[in-house]
Amino acid sequence: MAVLWLDDVTADDLETVGGKGASLGELTGAGLPVPPGFVVTAGTYRTFIEEAGIDDELFAAMDIDPEDSAALREAEQTAEDLILGTELPDSVRDEILEAYRSMGDGEAFVAVRSSATAEDLPDASFAGQQETFLNVREEALVQRVKECWASLFSQRAIYYRQQKGFPHSEVDIAVVVQQMVDAEKSGVMFTSHPSTGEPEIIIEAAWGLGEAVVSGSVSPDNYVVDRETAAVEQVTVADKKLLMEKDLETGETVERPVEEEKREAQVLGDDEIARLVELGRQVEDHYGTPQDVEWAVYEGEVYMLQSRPITTISDSAASSGGPASQEREAATNGGVDTTPGTGGATTDSDDDEVLLHGLGASPGIVSGTVRVVTKLDHLDQVAEGDIIVTEMTMPDMVPAMKRAVGIITDEGGMTSHAAIVSRELGVPAVVGTGSATSALSDGQTVTIDGDKGTIRQGTVSKTEEEHEPVEAVRPETPVKPMTATEVKVNVSIPEAAERAAATGADGVGLLRIEHMVLSLGVTPEKYIADHGADAYVDELVSGIREVAEEFYPRPVRARTLDAPTDEFRELEGGDSEPNEHNPMLGWRGIRRSLDKPDVFEQELRAFKRLYEMGYDNVELMLPLVNDASDVETAVEHMEAVGIDPEKRRWGVMIETPASALSIEELAGCGIDFASFGTNDLTQYTLAVDRNNGNVADRFDELHPAVLSLIGDVIEKCREMGVDTSICGQAGSKPAMVDFLVKKGVTSISANIDAVRDVQHEVKRTEQKLILDDIR
Ligand code: PEP
Ligand code: MG
Repeated sequence: MAVLWLDDVTADDLETVGGKGASLGELTGAGLPVPPGFVVTAGTYRTFIEEAGIDDELFAAMDIDPEDSAALREAEQTAEDLILGTELPDSVRDEILEAYRSMGDGEAFVAVRSSATAEDLPDASFAGQQETFLNVREEALVQRVKECWASLFSQRAIYYRQQKGFPHSEVDIAVVVQQMVDAEKSGVMFTSHPSTGEPEIIIEAAWGLGEAVVSGSVSPDNYVVDRETAAVEQVTVADKKLLMEKDLETGETVERPVEEEKREAQVLGDDEIARLVELGRQVEDHYGTPQDVEWAVYEGEVYMLQSRPITTISDSAASSGGPASQEREAATNGGVDTTPGTGGATTDSDDDEVLLHGLGASPGIVSGTVRVVTKLDHLDQVAEGDIIVTEMTMPDMVPAMKRAVGIITDEGGMTSHAAIVSRELGVPAVVGTGSATSALSDGQTVTIDGDKGTIRQGTVSKTEEEHEPVEAVRPETPVKPMTATEVKVNVSIPEAAERAAATGADGVGLLRIEHMVLSLGVTPEKYIADHGADAYVDELVSGIREVAEEFYPRPVRARTLDAPTDEFRELEGGDSEPNEHNPMLGWRGIRRSLDKPDVFEQELRAFKRLYEMGYDNVELMLPLVNDASDVETAVEHMEAVGIDPEKRRWGVMIETPASALSIEELAGCGIDFASFGTNDLTQYTLAVDRNNGNVADRFDELHPAVLSLIGDVIEKCREMGVDTSICGQAGSKPAMVDFLVKKGVTSISANIDAVRDVQHEVKRTEQKLILDDIR
């Protein structure tokens, strides 16, 4: 039998109907309201590839190095050719169509949903790996089923399985064919708090089909309900600009603006919330574990479209409960307490003498042996446990920075390379000391305090070493407050992606690709000349993918290249770089990209490749634009490489006063978002070099002039339906967070170490706004 009706399926049928099918069958059996449907079994797929004799070739094609982008692409293509190019036996085709015709009047719109046998397992969420097609009818049904099968071999899926060690040949795929619910409203529900496991039901709801919520293209309303008493504890109504629905003429799923009066209206009524809570309790009781449910409302009825276990609740959180124990979370590196005030470590050292002062750029207190590194030094001399002391860190120092326990520089501010990278690595750092390379000497033991910005002679006292290791009190999953303003994280080195994702951030607000390029050690022009454009694209794809994969489906905003010429000059091929008097005001960002379209288009090709691989969570961001003409020309290049700006989310950085003052024209170019790069916006508004220690005290991102530009841009963007965010260093400062939330910014992107604090600050400010409103 090629198909099984959901009525006849239970959780025990996982091998036959895949995770989604088993879950829907189980829910149906438990009397929960699931739209009717059937499953084309995993065995049908398996028999198809075996009887057609394409199985050996298919699996052999997957035997590739997953880091080789070209090979991945080829493997995906081979699978698609084999599966789509082979006819389905008539008997199977007939059985599928017969089952379809017996549903409704034989003209029903159905959802065709992949259900892999390794999907939605309790220990590995494969969410979003395979295809789903909505609003399908008889003529396309069989083709869509085969496309679901082929999607088992998308580049993302192949890469993911290799990474997790799932053998390709052991994963099968079933396909659920289910009556469409023309949802008037829909969303997701967590039957317990997704990070603490508290008995709180969290519901997210938006208008139209649930795809808008799941894909993150709309900010949904958020409801927090006490699961035991059913009391609604908190309602946050979002501005829902978009909805997805079936186009009545074509039957296709389309995105539409929400009518004005419904945009800020609360989606769920009391009855619907009560019904969802009832279903939430029932489904959690049924499974005995917290569930993540997709639901929809149609003609007053609530339907359940999917349920799977929540994989993010840590054992410690689930068992030890109370938020108080969770509050002790501390980001850490190698057992060093990097969170001020939480570990109880003393800052005393054996010899209390402060040798040097600088800016505390990455928090934590650590002792180690000084290793002075000059530009000409061999970095392999830096051993585990050393403290790097250097004029300024460079991208090629990152491997050594990973081995080091601390970093001290002569130059640089809070937004310098050393500061950004050490924060991402979780290595304590003090920058801008002025004279560390001459004042300290090789072999000397010092203690650095990355909060206070001090360097002392000697080691930390015993009290710190005796202190309970931070790991012991750190829950695996951070407690993430639910906020209407999204809180994202900045990433500059792909290796930091895992740490960044573990913060529970809502996505990456800025992925700087400079590091991927500078760490090649060669200028892009020379790299392309030596290795060819494809090799350059491959490098970018693999760096961005590392982050996009870690965060999927959370959005990752990757920015096109923005390195100043003085950084390029350090690289091989750098001799051909112009010698600029003021590189900060020079040939960088979009200016360089538009002057060098042959190089820029390779970056854009990398984005296109990622989209093709299924990383639809990647967003493209253009740095240092001044006006609409910069953006229009960039769009021409996007189109030239085959990126459809209408289909992708993309936007610009607001980093110059000119861009802030021309926000209306920029919005007219079709941007989806504008993101404040306050490092540059402050430097250009106040005429204060961000890297110059002599004027560091004048570098003030909260200066009224800077805030005035930011405030105006947020206001205009809100009027024009453009999202706003911040991805400069100031997004990690409470006063800026406060200002932005009050102005109505859409998202805030912070440094890894600051995400937690920013989440709480956002929550505090939002609650205060709500209270002020009520009072
Ligand atoms: C900024 O200018 O604030 C920004 C985020 O970009 P970068 O620090 O890379 O210049
Ligand atoms: Mg910038």
